Amino acid sequence: MTEIKLYNTKTKTKEVFKPLDVNNVRMYVCGPTVYDRAHIGNARPVVVFDVLYRLLREVYGPDHVTYARNFTDVDDKINAKAEETGRSIRDITDETISWFLEDMGALGALEPNEAPRATEYIPEMIAMIEELIAKGHAYEAEGHALFDVNSYEHYGALSGRSVDDMIAGARVEVAPYKRNPMDFVLWKPSTGIQPGWDSPWGYGRPGWHIECSAMSRALFGETFDIHGGGLDLQFPHHENEIAQSCACCGEDTFAKVWMHNEMLQVEGKKMSKSLGNFFSVRELLDQGYPGEVIRFVFLSTHYSKPMDWTEKKAKEAKNTLSKWRAKTYDVKIGDISETVTDSLANDLNTHAAIVELHKIYSEERYEDLKASASLLGLLTDDLGGWIHHLNAMSAESHIEVSMPTLRTYDINIVKALIEKLLSERKKARIDKDFLRSDTIRDGFAAAGILVKDTKEGATWELGPNFDPSKLEAIK
Ligand code: AMP
Ligand code: ZN
Repeated sequence: MTEIKLYNTKTKTKEVFKPLDVNNVRMYVCGPTVYDRAHIGNARPVVVFDVLYRLLREVYGPDHVTYARNFTDVDDKINAKAEETGRSIRDITDETISWFLEDMGALGALEPNEAPRATEYIPEMIAMIEELIAKGHAYEAEGHALFDVNSYEHYGALSGRSVDDMIAGARVEVAPYKRNPMDFVLWKPSTGIQPGWDSPWGYGRPGWHIECSAMSRALFGETFDIHGGGLDLQFPHHENEIAQSCACCGEDTFAKVWMHNEMLQVEGKKMSKSLGNFFSVRELLDQGYPGEVIRFVFLSTHYSKPMDWTEKKAKEAKNTLSKWRAKTYDVKIGDISETVTDSLANDLNTHAAIVELHKIYSEERYEDLKASASLLGLLTDDLGGWIHHLNAMSAESHIEVSMPTLRTYDINIVKALIEKLLSERKKARIDKDFLRSDTIRDGFAAAGILVKDTKEGATWELGPNFDPSKLEAIK
């Protein structure tokens, strides 16, 4: 069995990964707060942990890995949006969740096995807070429940800070009811349009951190293998999750391995709305970057390094993938290269894995390329968002779609797909499977592809009504 090594942020060493139960490897990743479209930074942990999920499934078997990623659907930013728009909270969170799944799907991310919504685990959160109070790790004050950081000896161990440093460095919310300024909210009172539930501390809602402790416990039990998220969550979110879970369930409980992806920036600068370099994933997709291209750019940098999104990288990725796709459409799945598996097993070295994919391509081992790339979620059987991209382009130029308006990389893909279907049609005719050959003929007609049968074989060209989405629909 492949030996996986992961850098554990908790121990600050790269360790051999030993699952608690090889039949059920459990990974929890902090998911989005759902009030708006995911920006491309939010997509980084999604893509990074998707690759880890794929690797774990490859090594331990797809039925032996459970991946949970939560939706934070109770949060003051959501309340503010509800107030601003007059829409209901449920409406906003439902819509944002469906956008998120759609956008992350376009990046080739598999859906996790579990996608718990915070609002569905309120009783579990209340129970955990009650246990913390009973054990002397939390206290009630003015309708709040607060975690007492001084009661937990290892507070700060993950991020390597002392409570005093934190007070000096952080913008902590000082409140008269807190025993220590670092004490954090487990429960707080709700009024007006704020969502709320009855609790032993009055009508209110949970603080942010308790949901991940309560939901991972409900889904995985007190101990599990991997906990992931962006580096920005290490403090205070993950520090607080550890404090809650370990104070409640014991020092040896909760996640064994902690993994943090570094931040994404754009053209060398931190993404920010005021700099105008802030993009949602949807905006990039709509600008014509197929999801697979975005994914490729993300994976060309190791997750532990800051990653810079640049147009130049995206263009290069587009060219590479279109070359690879053109050669792998019609091939059988070969063998996953050991070098690719070993690179990923070495703390998810996606950069090295991609270098190897280039080598496999240059050796013309297309079947192995297809198999190996799939471990990174690339060159998969769906079109990786390329068809939407083509579609958007044909919509833009409307009736004018003809060969020259499609750029070379797109042509490679269209060509490969058409030629694959033509050879299928030929085979169907030989086998006298007329139903199949007619389906393909009609599909070509619907997609606006003009096919001519000549003595030398079939030739084709794109007609004025060319519609690539119909081409994909020929099954
Ligand atoms: P949020 O919705 O802000 O809680 O973030 C959801 C996820 O996106 C978390 O795992 C964050 O760490 C991650 N994240 C947010 N911004 C960035 C960024 N610029 N680069 C990488 N990851 C990010
Ligand atoms: Zn979390």
